[in-house]
Amino acid sequence: MTLEHPREHCGLCGVSGGESVLALTHLGLHALQHRGQEAAGVMLAGGGTCFLHRARGLVDDAFDGLPPVMRGLAAERAIAHVRYSTAGDSSAANAQPLMVEIAGQKLGIAHNGTLCNAASLRLELLADGAILQTTSDTELVLHLIARALRKRPATQLWDAVAESLTRLKGAYAFLLLTKDCMAAVRDPMGFRPLSIGDLPDDGCLVASETIAHTVTGARPVREVEPGEMVIWGPGGRVESRRFAPCVRRAHCIFEHVYFARPGSYVFGDSVYEVRKAMGRQLAREAPVAADVVIPVPDSGTFAALGFAEESKLPFDMGFTRNHYVGRTFIDPGQRLSRRKLVARKLQPIAEAVAGRRVCLVEDSIVRGNTCQARVRTLRDAGAREVHMRVSCPPHRCGCYFGIDFPESGQLLANQAPLEQMRERLRLDSLAYLSKDGMLSCVRRYRPEDYCCACFDGRYPVEPDTLDERPLPC
Ligand code: SF4
Repeated sequence: MTLEHPREHCGLCGVSGGESVLALTHLGLHALQHRGQEAAGVMLAGGGTCFLHRARGLVDDAFDGLPPVMRGLAAERAIAHVRYSTAGDSSAANAQPLMVEIAGQKLGIAHNGTLCNAASLRLELLADGAILQTTSDTELVLHLIARALRKRPATQLWDAVAESLTRLKGAYAFLLLTKDCMAAVRDPMGFRPLSIGDLPDDGCLVASETIAHTVTGARPVREVEPGEMVIWGPGGRVESRRFAPCVRRAHCIFEHVYFARPGSYVFGDSVYEVRKAMGRQLAREAPVAADVVIPVPDSGTFAALGFAEESKLPFDMGFTRNHYVGRTFIDPGQRLSRRKLVARKLQPIAEAVAGRRVCLVEDSIVRGNTCQARVRTLRDAGAREVHMRVSCPPHRCGCYFGIDFPESGQLLANQAPLEQMRERLRLDSLAYLSKDGMLSCVRRYRPEDYCCACFDGRYPVEPDTLDERPLPC
C-alpha cells in the first residue's frame, strides 16, 4: 500500500531520578507513539548495572514483554525509543536503544534523526577494524566513542562522547545512559526537538515532545540547546556542556506542519497554535467560495479549524477515521481499488458533505494517490464541489535529516504544474500555503532559523557525497 504521508521518524524519552522511573518512561514513550510504530525499546539503569529490552511493534507490546529482572528492578534512570527506520533497515537488530560495553562499562544510546556523513564514517570505521552489527547510523556513534575513549581513562567517558559528537554531520538528538548517568544531546543546528522537564519528585524527564511531560506530570523547563550535552549524574548532579557552537539553527518546520502532536510545544512554539495559524494564513492567501470546511483527520484538523475561523465558514467533520487500522494490509489478489483501501481508514459522512461545496484541508500532499481517492470518495458521498487547501508549500525534495519521503520523482509536485495537479486530483480548485506564509506562523525563532529543504531544496547541511541515497531534487 503506497503511503501518502512521509512516515514518522523516531521519538525519545528518558527519565533520571525520582520514583517510578520505569512507569514514567513507559507513559512518556507511549505519548510519543505517533513518532514511530515499527519498534520500541527501553534501557534501565539501577543496582549498579544496566538492562535492555527491545521489541518490534508498539510501545505497549515492548513493555508487556519486559523480562522479570527489569520489572523488578529499582530503576534509577531509563532511556527509551520508538522507531520508524529512516536509516538502516527495519530488522529487529536496528531497534533501539543500542547497548554496548566500552572500557568495562555499559553504554546505551537512542537516536532521533539521520547522520549525513554515515557512509564515510562507516568506511573509516571498517578500515580501522570495527565490526558493525547493524545497518543503523547510530551504531557508528558508539564506535566513535569507543575509539575516543582509548585515548583517555575510562572515567572520562563524557569527554570521549563530546569529542565523538564533533565528527557527526546532520540531524541528531541522542539520549545516552550508563549505570550512573543519563545524557541528552542535540546537534548544533537543532534539527529535531528535545525538551527537559522537572518531575514533581526531583527527577527529570527528557522527551522529543512536551506531550510526554504533560502525561507524566513533568513541568517543561527548557529545550536542550543546539550543540549542548546535558548530563544527569549521581546525587542529582546536573552538568551542561557545549560540544559545538550553534552557528545557525535549522529546526524542522515539518514538525509543526505534520509530525508533532498538537498538544506539544516544539522549538518553543505550541504546535496547536502554529497549525491553526497556518490554516488562518492559508485562508488569507487562498480564499474559497465553499459551504463547509472539512479536515483530513487527524493531522489536517487544526489547520482546517484555523481556515474555517478566518474564512467565517462552518467547520464540520466530513470523514470519520478508523483508529484500528494496522500498519499493513494484505491484499494478495490486488483486487481492492485504492478507493476501497483509503475508505478502510477514512469513511466519508454523506450527511456532512452531500449537496455542499466542500473545502478539504490537508496538511501535505506527497504522492497524491491517496489524496485522489479521498476526493473521489467525497464526490461519491454527494459533495457538489471539492476544493483542496494544503497547509504547507508543495513538497519537491527529499530529506536527509530523519524524515522518510519518497524519491523526488515520486512527489506529485515534481510531476505536474499546479493546474495539472488539480486536474489529476479531480478537484475544483487547489492551493498551497506559501513558504513565507508558513514561516510567518512560528513565533519563537526567526524564519531563517527553520529548515525548509523539502520545500525549497536549500539544505542546511550538505549530505555526504558517499551516501547512497538518491539525489534529493
Ligand atoms: S528537509 Fe523537510 S522534513 Fe527534513 S528536516 Fe528539513 S523541513 Fe524537516
